[in-house]
Amino acid sequence: MPDRIVGGRIVPDRRKPFNTEPLQEVAEPILADLYPGIHKRSETDVDQLPRLLYDGVWRDHQAEIVADIYAFADFHPVDQQRTEPVIKAWSDDCGEKLEGEYLQSYYRTAVHVGLLAYVRHMRELRTKMNCEQGWHRTVERFHDACSGLLGYGFLGAHEKWGGLRLTYRCDQTANEACREAERVAVERAAQTCEVCGLPGELRQSAWRKTLCDFHARSRDV
Ligand SMILES: [Zn+2]
Repeated sequence: MPDRIVGGRIVPDRRKPFNTEPLQEVAEPILADLYPGIHKRSETDVDQLPRLLYDGVWRDHQAEIVADIYAFADFHPVDQQRTEPVIKAWSDDCGEKLEGEYLQSYYRTAVHVGLLAYVRHMRELRTKMNCEQGWHRTVERFHDACSGLLGYGFLGAHEKWGGLRLTYRCDQTANEACREAERVAVERAAQTCEVCGLPGELRQSAWRKTLCDFHARSRDV
């Protein structure tokens, strides 16, 4: 899958496998709520064709759907940016490279409900994050990298001595993959302002904190 342009911005190719099976499942109640005409799936239901097309778009385009969802989260790292109208506008901008209006429209529905499900899930995760919002996206990415691994469970994230600390559980077999994801997250946080998410570095005065120039200055005042 090549790099694509969504909403005027470049969405990079991500060949790394995604742990996505649960996403369509988590989106089911949202689909039922917002798109009841698609949600029906009974064999005897005369309206089942939309359901088949919707499932087909997830089956055939799962990697792109998830890449579009992750790209949204990267461009909107702070929860207050993730409002329903912004999510809807983003999903409406997706899928324009697909052939056919039908396919495009089911693709956009999949991104819309998938994104709402993802954002809700991450909102729950954020209740376990005891660090400022500049690091939230870094923690989310750690969670995305680990979810689906055997025995993985997110327990919390917090700041200590200016660095990011993660607590989680996982099986012996998944230990190495989780540790690697943890290393990446801790390294990324060490270069990210904990307050705003812009590039930052460790500042040491009375307190140790990772901050950008602006927040380091405003803290000194
Ligand atoms: Zn900052």
